[in-house]
Amino acid sequence: MRCPMILREWGEKQNPANKAYFVASLLWLVLLSSGCSQPAATCYQQPRADLSGALAYAADDELEFQYPLPELGLKDYPEPARFCKASRGSNRKYHAAEDYHLPAGTPVYAFADGVISFSGRMGGYGWLIIIDHPQANIYSLYGHLSPSRWKLKSGAVEKGDLIGYLGDSDENGGSAKNPLVTHLHFGIRAGQRTDYSGQGEWRWMAGWIKPCPSDVGWLKPSQVITGQEIPPGGFPEPEGSLFEKWGEELILSLFNVGGGLVALIYSLKKKKTFISIFATAMLALAGGVFSIKGTRGYYALFAMAVLGLGIVIYQYLQKRNEEQGEGEGREAQEEQGQQ
Ligand SMILES: [Zn+2]
Repeated sequence: MRCPMILREWGEKQNPANKAYFVASLLWLVLLSSGCSQPAATCYQQPRADLSGALAYAADDELEFQYPLPELGLKDYPEPARFCKASRGSNRKYHAAEDYHLPAGTPVYAFADGVISFSGRMGGYGWLIIIDHPQANIYSLYGHLSPSRWKLKSGAVEKGDLIGYLGDSDENGGSAKNPLVTHLHFGIRAGQRTDYSGQGEWRWMAGWIKPCPSDVGWLKPSQVITGQEIPPGGFPEPEGSLFEKWGEELILSLFNVGGGLVALIYSLKKKKTFISIFATAMLALAGGVFSIKGTRGYYALFAMAVLGLGIVIYQYLQKRNEEQGEGEGREAQEEQGQQ
């Protein structure tokens, strides 16, 4: 609903005299456009599939999937967030997973065989683990784990392997000031983690998103667990334009890579060591942030940061050579004068 307003404002303020605003508006428009898609009418909070028999799945080696916790953990909290639950307020978002409430320290298990494709700190989640399951063409997401307790960092896992523990309310994405109720945020999505961008509504680590979660590949976890069925060829990946999926990441990467490259070329041409150092530091910083978000552009950024460092060293050595050269020249002149 907000996007048409922005479009109108943009149209009114498009003044050729104000080029900076025009460019800024255009950039913002492109960035916001991925949030413009209206939620599907069918998006509603979905009750969990009946998980009462799910605890027995862990013992059955014939089955593909199991429940990721030792207890169902549905009861002691008034209303754990269900799949597609809408957030309150004007900026409505939908829950792309199911929440299971259990105390801190509860072990968390891999829900199927797979390979860990991410394990690290992530804003809002405390510790986050992602497991790719190529045999079913899905990945599973385990949020609000404990960064301080043991957690599995990489490698292949089998169904039921211990991967970590639920985090305390001040380390699971919450803080001492704003504690978060201890729970597992468990998501399942068609495709593998690297099929998705690190930015925007299609981002691979999303917990709450503007589009209907099922439109962007998220599946109802309890249904997948109880269904125990892998469609031929695996779960089908969602449809979406290249721009919808990758637009924000592409723009951010282009902005940083392009800007960094311009700064480096300028510093090389003008022999400005300080600008090289600054560009290198900024590129390395952007690369660090991008790598946390799993954005592809960070490889290019790190390569450019290394290039920038090379330029800084080259410029320093060149300056020193020139100074030495000048010094030798003066000495030679002085010698000639004495003769
Ligand atoms: Zn959640």
